[in-house]
Amino acid sequence: MSTDFTASGVSRFPDRDLGVKRFSCDVGKPLAEQKELGHNRWHPDIPPLYELGPGEEIILEAPGYDDYQLQDVDDDGDIKTFDLTRTHPLAGPVRIDGAKAGDLLVVDVLDILPLSGIGYSNILPGMGGPLASWFPEGFKTIWDLHGLFATSRQIPGVEIPAISHPGITGVAPSYELLDLWNRREDPLIVDGLAAPRADATDQAVLRTLGGDALADANRTAARTIPPRENGGNMDIKNLSRGCRVYYPVFVDGALFSAGDYHFAEGDGEITWNAIEMDGAGWFRFDIIKDGMARYGVKTPMIRPSACDPNLGTRYLTFIGLSAKGTDQRYLDLTFAATNAVEQAIEYLGKFGYSPEQAYTIISVAPCEMHVGGVVDIPNAAVTLKIPLDIFDQDILPH
Ligand code: ZN
Repeated sequence: MSTDFTASGVSRFPDRDLGVKRFSCDVGKPLAEQKELGHNRWHPDIPPLYELGPGEEIILEAPGYDDYQLQDVDDDGDIKTFDLTRTHPLAGPVRIDGAKAGDLLVVDVLDILPLSGIGYSNILPGMGGPLASWFPEGFKTIWDLHGLFATSRQIPGVEIPAISHPGITGVAPSYELLDLWNRREDPLIVDGLAAPRADATDQAVLRTLGGDALADANRTAARTIPPRENGGNMDIKNLSRGCRVYYPVFVDGALFSAGDYHFAEGDGEITWNAIEMDGAGWFRFDIIKDGMARYGVKTPMIRPSACDPNLGTRYLTFIGLSAKGTDQRYLDLTFAATNAVEQAIEYLGKFGYSPEQAYTIISVAPCEMHVGGVVDIPNAAVTLKIPLDIFDQDILPH
């Protein structure tokens, strides 16, 4: 167990200790050099950093998804040399006393805040979502986070309201679940459709595991890129302050971790980046005994927050179909969503935004993407709602 929990509360006044433990991040230092080590892979053998009882709270601080590879300079060399094997540095795991496999872990998200006040959004070369091939050089955006709003010198004229959330929250997989993931995903690695597991240049950090124990665990440890049954990289913008999440528990103690904090994100996180930030998440835990079987739960469920930003009715909604020109797909939601995004990029271009800027705005502003229909053969329809009030100009057609 860690001994470095001297920062014992959220209050600056020692006699107003609220009893909230804090797992601290050394701002600017990569995960491997942190005083308190977290982890960047999923594995049941990762030693817990702390043990809490039901009803207890913790603040988990973590570097951003980039592990402090990105620099607050306009030069974009950092996105070209970006090492994906260092994603995502997570804080945890927290062991919850009394949680058993088969229970539900109830997690209240009490707050999410930035640490350094700098955010990044990138179209990474080769890792930029469905339109990556449009942007072979990539595109880097740096955000200044001012309380409720983010602004960027790379995208003038927009102000993005916070709907801050952890991109990643989750519990440890059991050995059986880990084995299932590996059997499911290994065939995809061959074709580059899933991130490789342990390799020669691997930057796996599994907390305090070292030597043979690290090598052993890392042979089967899962990358943090996809969401899975344990939660993980769900990248759901509404997993925000005030929401409650119910996670299926696969190992005794549940072993909860969090990181990949986002200041704001649009549904779909279409460029593969939100406004990414180093951050602190404040969480409270409870347990529902035997909840997995009692409620038939196989993946996490969310009860949303009452505190989402209210952007009212001032949206413009684009509609994407699973057909474009002569290209006909059958009820293909990804194709339909991408077509909605292409429409919006072309439209925003009429108001002065470059394709790189427009693609980034759609990925990081609190845009809503909904499925219109997935039954009207052969065409699915997806809607993309862009909030109008983020722009300093009127972008409605007249
Ligand atoms: Zn992220």
